[in-house]
Amino acid sequence: MRAGASWGWSRRSGGELTNQRTMTGAERPILIAGGGPVGVVAALALARQGFEVRVFEADDHVNEAPRAATTHPATLEMLADLGLVDDMIRRGLVARTFQFWDRSSRQMVAEFDHDVLKDDTPYPFVVQCEQHKLASLAIERLRVLPNAQVHFSARVAAIEPFDDHVEIAVDAGARMQSICGSYLIGADGGRSTVRKALGIDFEGYTFPERFLVLTTPFDFAAEYGCGFRCYFSDPDEWVNLFKVAGNDGGGLWRAVFPTLPGEADEHVLNEESVQHRLQRFFPKPGPYPVVHRNLYNVHQRVAATFARGRVFLAGDAAHVNNPIGGLGLNCGIHDAVELSGLIGRVLRQEEPEDVLALYDRRRRPVNIEYVQQQTIANKKRLEERDPDARQAGFELLRRTAADRTAHRAFLLRTSLLESVRNRPSPS
Ligand SMILES: Cc1cc2nc3c(=O)[nH]c(=O)nc-3n(C[C@H](O)[C@H](O)[C@H](O)COP(=O)(O)OP(=O)(O)OC[C@H]3O[C@@H](n4cnc5c(N)ncnc54)[C@H](O)[C@@H]3O)c2cc1C
Repeated sequence: MRAGASWGWSRRSGGELTNQRTMTGAERPILIAGGGPVGVVAALALARQGFEVRVFEADDHVNEAPRAATTHPATLEMLADLGLVDDMIRRGLVARTFQFWDRSSRQMVAEFDHDVLKDDTPYPFVVQCEQHKLASLAIERLRVLPNAQVHFSARVAAIEPFDDHVEIAVDAGARMQSICGSYLIGADGGRSTVRKALGIDFEGYTFPERFLVLTTPFDFAAEYGCGFRCYFSDPDEWVNLFKVAGNDGGGLWRAVFPTLPGEADEHVLNEESVQHRLQRFFPKPGPYPVVHRNLYNVHQRVAATFARGRVFLAGDAAHVNNPIGGLGLNCGIHDAVELSGLIGRVLRQEEPEDVLALYDRRRRPVNIEYVQQQTIANKKRLEERDPDARQAGFELLRRTAADRTAHRAFLLRTSLLESVRNRPSPS
């Protein structure tokens, strides 16, 4: 295909096909590969500025696997600007505090309270809202905007970047369609086709152990006084425990455990082993009811660049990390919002196109400093084997929680507010 050829077809929501041969510049839609939470939030942020947006999602439905839930204050501020936060609070749970526990003694070590941030943000709490609810809320909003389309069962199979536009090949089952856009956002997850098509390295490593998520309605707050977000330190088997609302609002607890390297799926997921893990964590009479059991590979990786020409990577396509601290999706939403702002300024001709270089210049270091570093440190803290270092870590947490200034500084960082407030201005 020669550079400058701008042809292609896209399906409007009514099913009608529109030829884009005559479209130029800002008239061409912005294309988004991936209808996960980052892709649809990016789409909403762009569509609300009046731009034509098309999202292509490989799956035929929103993925409901238990992954992200914790949404931090900095992200709530952004989602409020997109008109999503009230519904997230309605469909999720508000958690003002989080706790560190010593698993072996089953004693709480320290509690942190976002209320110390009440002069820093209108949202001095996190919202535990499952990521599929956020994705569905954003898609509901997109469905009523005439300039936005979300296509399911539409896998982006190939991309071809040009100087003044991008073309993608979309596998929509019956046939391959070629679509032409002004920009392409690759929000197609950790195995990103877009990132691979551009030959961008995904630098970092994969942990030898996997993370097991067991979901139960058993009420750890009523029985053991656990808060809605608890981190249990243990040299042999740390645990993260979270409460989410669940689809019916009745409340579910997700317990996240590391598996042993090389442990087979059948061994980890069978009923006896699941019950054994939960009973060892908090013994109780009778078996635990378990509604979901999910295993995840876990990585710390960052793309060598987040942008090439008119193609950008956002969310897990650009960076992946262990989920301790609940930062991956939050950072992905920040990518989506920042990128949408930059593209908007260029398409409205408020800034020259080279302002888009700020996206990689800002987002990549932010991910490394605030997400990679914190999540690696969080995991180390929970699995510390040296008894003196463990006790010193506990003491530091207690001292930090007891001192209001240190408490606030700690939360400004863990909540990503610091990463947003420290952002340099565009020019
Ligand atoms: C157990 C666990 C707990 C977590 N908890 C948290 C948390 O509390 N807070 C937090 O911030 N983060 C958390 N995370 C991380 C979070 O789940 C991810 O960061 C988040 O899913 C990233 O969203 P995304 O939209 O970038 O990617 P995804 O959610 O992976 O979505 C990508 C989408 O792209 C689609 N796709 C893939 N390839 C193509 C293609 N070629 N064409 C079209 N579509 C395609 C996929 O079907 C998918 O729907 C957790 C992760 C795990 C595993």
